[in-house]
Parts: sequence; structure tokens; C-alpha cells
Amino acid sequence: MQQVRAKKFLGQHFLTDLSVAQKIAETISSGRTIEIGPGMGVLTQYLLKNSQIDLTAIEIDRESVAYLREWYPELNLIEGDFLKLDLDKLIPEGEFNVIGNYPYNISSQIFFKVLDYKDRIPVCSGMIQKEVAERLASKPGNKAYGILSVLLQAYYDIEYLFTVDEHVFNPPPKVKSAVIRMTRNKRRRLDCDEVLFKTVVKTAFNQRRKQMRNSLKSILDNGQWTMDKNERLEWFLTRRPEQLSVEEFIELTNLIEKSHVGNQNIL
Ligand code: SAH
Repeated sequence: MQQVRAKKFLGQHFLTDLSVAQKIAETISSGRTIEIGPGMGVLTQYLLKNSQIDLTAIEIDRESVAYLREWYPELNLIEGDFLKLDLDKLIPEGEFNVIGNYPYNISSQIFFKVLDYKDRIPVCSGMIQKEVAERLASKPGNKAYGILSVLLQAYYDIEYLFTVDEHVFNPPPKVKSAVIRMTRNKRRRLDCDEVLFKTVVKTAFNQRRKQMRNSLKSILDNGQWTMDKNERLEWFLTRRPEQLSVEEFIELTNLIEKSHVGNQNIL
């Protein structure tokens, strides 16, 4: 059967280096696992060889699906869009890992979805654009530190494992790639209102160069609520979001919540 023709709009860059594929597959050792975007199965073949892994693959591209059904008839394969799939229906109970050489054009959306299922996903690993990998693993004070760094690091320990050159893909992408692994940490719940936390992080980073006094204005003075002055909160508001750790964002969220008189409606 013919090779799959790479389609740009699906973010298709097929990995051609088998040793890299094997190394990526080894970032997960066992358990129920979803592979996103198997393509022609370069990673899949190693995942299938590991008898400790119970694999389900999700592929949106009909041509790749036909190829996989021919070459890997034993593979549990679903033709569909990972972003639209109801994972609770697909896997009604228990934990599952997520792995892939991901479609780079939707990698952020994939990670937001992983966050939606964070209590069921102990490990998420795979290959993404190097720049995005640096963002995810970045620490406060760093230029790359942003929304996804804070939201993911609140629940996951993130390892930047290794960098991958563009020449081991067909066709080669314009950017370098990197392999990461995220392992769920011990924090079950944040010590604050989690919805407000997300809003604070997103709103602050939407204007990342500004002091948070300015960027958080919409949250701070929304209408009828007056703020009680609080020294610690005032200090936070003179900072820029990239200076704050996950723990400090949690503290800030609590201070914002408490400082609103009659705070029932700030979310
Ligand atoms: N894992 C393969 C292919 C990587 S390219 C390899 O390493 O060679 C990314 C793959 O993700 C492609 O096969 C593409 O068709 C698939 N894909 C893109 N968007 C998807 C989506 N929303 N859901 C599932 N698969 C998707």
C-alpha cells in the first residue's frame, strides 16, 4: 500500500527516524494509553510491542486510518478528532496515559483537553514544537513562561527530555521539535477557587508586559464591589505575571476573592 500523502492542514510531518520513535514510545512504560495522531504508525509499532501497554489510537485522517488498518490490523483504532471525542465515553473508568508525535497546529488545544481530564491522566508525553515545549517546562522569570506553563505546572511535573532536529521528518517542519513528559503531581485540588485561578492567570498573561494592577482591572473593579486594601495584594499588583510561581498565583487568587466585599459574583 502507498505511503500517506502528507497534508499540511492536519499538521502531518511523519517521523522517519526509528530510534527517535522508539525513544518517544519508551516515555510511557505501562497502562492504558491513548495515542493521538498515529499517522503511519511509526510510534505505534513500538507501543504495540510493549505488552504492558493497552493502546487505543485516535486518527483524524482517513488515508492514515486506511493505512493503519492494513498494516496494524491488531491496533485498536478510532477514526475521529481527538479534540471532539468524549473521553469519558471512550474510556468509561480508570486512568489512561496520552502519547503522540502531536499535530503541532493544535498542540495547545490538546493540552487544555488533557487538563480537563487531569484526574484521569497520570502521564502525558510526546513530541511538540520545541518552542512550545520550552514554554510548558519554563519556570517563572523566564520569557517563555505563560498561561500553559502555569496551568499545566499546577497539576503536572514537566520534563523537557530531548530536542529533535527537523530533518528526521517527512516533510521537515519549519521548526525544531522536542520531546516532553508530564507526570501528574500530588496536588489533587488547588488551594483556591480553581475557576477564578484560571481566569486570573489567563487575564494576567493576556497583557504579559503590564503590571497586574492594569491587566487585572476587569476582575478587580467589576462594578458594585469595593476592594478592601490589603498590603500583600497591593504588592502582587505591582508585579508582572511572568514573575509569579504557581503557588503565588494561588495566593493571589485567594486574596482577590477575599478582597471583594460580597464576592459571590466575581467569577
Ligand atoms: N505520529 C505520526 C504522525 C505525526 S503528524 C508520526 O510520528 O509520523 C500528526 C498526526 O496527527 C497526523 O497523522 C494527523 O493526521 C493527526 N491529527 C491531526 N489532527 C488530529 C486530530 N484533531 N485528532 C486526531 N489526529 C489528528
